[in-house]
Amino acid sequence: MSATNEELERQRSKRKRVNRMKKMIITTIITFMLTTVFVLGFLCFKIVSLQRQINSLSASMAEAKLEAEEEAIASDGELDDLYAVDNMDNLAEAGDIPRVYLTFDDGPSSNTDEILDILDDYNVKASFFVIGKDVEEYGDDYKRIVEEGHTIGMHSFSHNYSNIYDSEEAFIADYNKIHSLIHEVCGIDCKYYRFPGGSSNKVSNSSMSVFINYLNSQNTTYFDWNVASGDATSQAFTADELVDNVMNDVVKYKTSVVLLHDSSNKETTVEALPQLIESLQASGAMILPITDETTVIQHVSVVQ
Ligand code: ZN
Repeated sequence: MSATNEELERQRSKRKRVNRMKKMIITTIITFMLTTVFVLGFLCFKIVSLQRQINSLSASMAEAKLEAEEEAIASDGELDDLYAVDNMDNLAEAGDIPRVYLTFDDGPSSNTDEILDILDDYNVKASFFVIGKDVEEYGDDYKRIVEEGHTIGMHSFSHNYSNIYDSEEAFIADYNKIHSLIHEVCGIDCKYYRFPGGSSNKVSNSSMSVFINYLNSQNTTYFDWNVASGDATSQAFTADELVDNVMNDVVKYKTSVVLLHDSSNKETTVEALPQLIESLQASGAMILPITDETTVIQHVSVVQ
């Protein structure tokens, strides 16, 4: 009887152990399943939020691309109203008598009187695109230029590129300064202009069309050049070389507008001038001052 009891007792405790193990296994399975469900839920949430971020990023990228395209179109539009002038009908043909316009920029200075003396010696008229900043010292040369039959033109008051080309307002203010200065000193309503750096300069912040349109509104004609003596390049040409540079080019055109400088550091230009005039005269060229009849030489122009 006691053996049967022992046996029953053992079976009961075995059943208990088995039940405990079953519970443990079930609990483990349930815990595992719950964890899995939780992790899956978390991952799903992450995926959705990442997808949202990607969508908003690609939307803002598309927006930025559109803006860049619009900007490109806008700047193309600015260039559209400027075009390079080819001057093809100015190419020399057999039998042409070359017309040569000597133009002096950046003066008056300590060299201007000597240049005027040389021009007087040869009875040659030229054109001076003057600046205004040294007027107190050289104002008399403004008068002398006009009185001796040369053409006076404007080359800005300050000759400070970053200032003049900063905005339309800055350009107009500088233009009015040099225009009224010439009017005060010489009694002339000056209608000729040379852009510092030329109309094709690459330093202007604004489109040159803004400034060209302003000059047009003032009935002021701007002249660039098609022959450069080279007296303003970094290369230090000798007087002979300056003459050669001009003589090599003037044969190409009916009308040559020659770029020279009468600023204070251009002694070589003064030195070259007598020989230049003699060479031009020997070649049969006419040396003339700029007038309203002069063929206008421009690098760029605006579409009308
Ligand atoms: Zn200049």
